[in-house]
Amino acid sequence: MGDRVGYLSQAREAIRGSFTSVRFSKIYETEPVDYLDQPWFLNQVAEIETDLQPESLLEWAQSLERRLGRQREIPKGPRTLDIDILLYDQKILAGEKLTLPHPELLNRRHVLVPLAELAPNKEYPLSYQTIRQALDQVKDRSQVKPYAPT
Ligand code: ADP
Ligand code: MG
Repeated sequence: MGDRVGYLSQAREAIRGSFTSVRFSKIYETEPVDYLDQPWFLNQVAEIETDLQPESLLEWAQSLERRLGRQREIPKGPRTLDIDILLYDQKILAGEKLTLPHPELLNRRHVLVPLAELAPNKEYPLSYQTIRQALDQVKDRSQVKPYAPT
C-alpha cells in the first residue's frame, strides 16, 4: 500500500547494499489471492548470495520491513512491504519461525512467474521438478502482469 514503487525501490537498494551477486526479476503487478478487497500488489523476486544463515536472513528481512514502515491490520491484507524467503539453496526446514521452501511457493502464480524469470531451471527441493515445470502446473489462475507504470 502507499508508494508501492518507492517501497520496492528502497528494498532493492537495501538488498544491493547488504548482499553480493544480486539479481532482480522484473516488477509484476498481481491480483490479490486471499483477501480480495484490496489493491493489486507489486511483486519482485531477488536472488542473492549471503553468509547469513536462513534464520538470520529472515531477521534481516523483518527488520527491513519494520524500517520501511510495515503495518498490518488485516492478515493477508494491504502492507507496505513483505519480504519472504522462497528458497535457500536446496534447504528444507520446518521451524517455528521459518519454513523452507516457502510453504505457498507452488500455489502462487505471483511467486512462480518472477521466480521462473530468474531461475527457471532451479529444482524445487521437495519434489523432482523445476520452477518452470511448477509454473506450468500451477492451478492458481490469478493475474500476474509485467508492471507498466502509466
Ligand atoms: P505473509 O508473508 O504470509 O503475508 P508475514 O510476513 O506476516 O505474512 O509472515 C508471517 C510469518 O511467517 C513470519 O513471522 C515468519 O516467521 C513466518 N515464515 C515462515 N516461513 C517463512 C519464509 N520462508 N519466509 C518468510 N516468512 C516465513
Ligand atoms: Mg512475509
